[in-house]
Amino acid sequence: MTLETLFRPLLHLVYPNVCIICQSPLTPDETYICSNCQNEFDAFLLPNESTTDMLTSLQNCFPNQTVISDALSLYRFYKQGKLQSLIHAIKYDGFSRIAVEQGRRLGEVILRERPNAKFDFIVPMPLHKLRKIERGYNQAERLATGVSEIVGAPVKELAQRTRYTSTQTGFSLEGRKRNIKHAFQCSSKLNGEHLLLIDDVFTTGSTMLECAKTLKESGAGKITIATLAVTAS
Ligand SMILES: [Zn+2]
Repeated sequence: MTLETLFRPLLHLVYPNVCIICQSPLTPDETYICSNCQNEFDAFLLPNESTTDMLTSLQNCFPNQTVISDALSLYRFYKQGKLQSLIHAIKYDGFSRIAVEQGRRLGEVILRERPNAKFDFIVPMPLHKLRKIERGYNQAERLATGVSEIVGAPVKELAQRTRYTSTQTGFSLEGRKRNIKHAFQCSSKLNGEHLLLIDDVFTTGSTMLECAKTLKESGAGKITIATLAVTAS
C-alpha cells in the first residue's frame, strides 16, 4: 500500500469535493469520481459481451458446471488501472456509498441486457462475519443494494460463510477450488427462485460457483451472477 492510497480516505474527509481517484476537483453533478476517471473504466458496451467472457471462463475452468446459467458485468478489470483504485476504495477505505452508486450502474446494465428477467431475490456474496467487523460492511451487499434500487427485486442475504477463508488472490485455480470448498451455507429453504448473485470482481468464478452450488442445494432455481468487474485475461 502506498502512502497515497493510505491517506486517500483522509484526504477525502478534508477535501470531499475532489475525485477519490485522481484528486481533481469535482463538478456539482459529480460525486466521488470525476467523469474523466469514470470514462476511463473499460465498460462492456456490446450486448452480451460480458456474458460471453464470463460464461466462457466458467466453461474453461469448470467444464461440467450447470449451476450458473447467466452472467453479467459492468467493467473489465486491469491490475494497476483506475478501476483498481475504485475497488480498493470500496473494499478497504470505507467508501460504501460508492459501492451503492456503482451498484445502480450495474443495475442499469442488467435492466438493459435482460429487460424481461424476473429475479426473486438479489443475493450478495457473503463476507465472513469477522471480515465484516473488520471492514464495517460487506461491499457485495452495498453493490446489491444499488442493483436492487434499479432492478426492483429485494436484497436477501441467503448465504453465509461458514469458514474464514484466506483471500483467493495468489492461488492457482486448483488452490482456489480447495480453499473455497464447503465455505458457504444457506439457512433458508428455497423453492425454485431465480436468484441474482452479486460480487465485486469475477476472476475464475470459483467462489461464486461454490456459493451458487450451496444455494442450488437449498432449492434455488435459476442462478444469474453479476459483478462490478471481470478480471481481464
Ligand atoms: Zn478523477
